[in-house]
Amino acid sequence: MPKGPECQVERCKFPATKMHRLKEQSGPFDYPTDFAVCDIHKDKLSDSATEWMLLYEDDGVRRLLVGPMLTELDEFLVLAPITKLTVYSQSSRVVSHPESNGYYLPIRVRRRGGEEETLTLVLPFDALVETADFLHGIAHRNDKVDEP
Ligand SMILES: [Zn+2]
Repeated sequence: MPKGPECQVERCKFPATKMHRLKEQSGPFDYPTDFAVCDIHKDKLSDSATEWMLLYEDDGVRRLLVGPMLTELDEFLVLAPITKLTVYSQSSRVVSHPESNGYYLPIRVRRRGGEEETLTLVLPFDALVETADFLHGIAHRNDKVDEP
């Protein structure tokens, strides 16, 4: 029996049964974003609550990640500005390696494709000024932001 095209969502092996046009919720541009998808992904992508990401690889390959598969990107959205910084005194916390100590920055985040959580970054003491200057520079558009 001849096999039809597969759903174009990453790693989905179900047959593509419908076309779906991806649309950013507030995107001003119209990209060529028609995808052949299976029934399940048609339903998911038609739900505006579904999180998805379209990635264009260097070789021109498009990857469409939907829902929980976004967790593989290991990206965390910061949900609120960082407004708290803690320093533990020697009498409350002792670490084996001094270089692994620093300022504790709790950050409310949501992993792409996942749930909200609080991460705590530990910023080594001698990295604070450089980090703050870097972020300050971006905020004032003096620094170049690296392309990946
Ligand atoms: Zn599918």
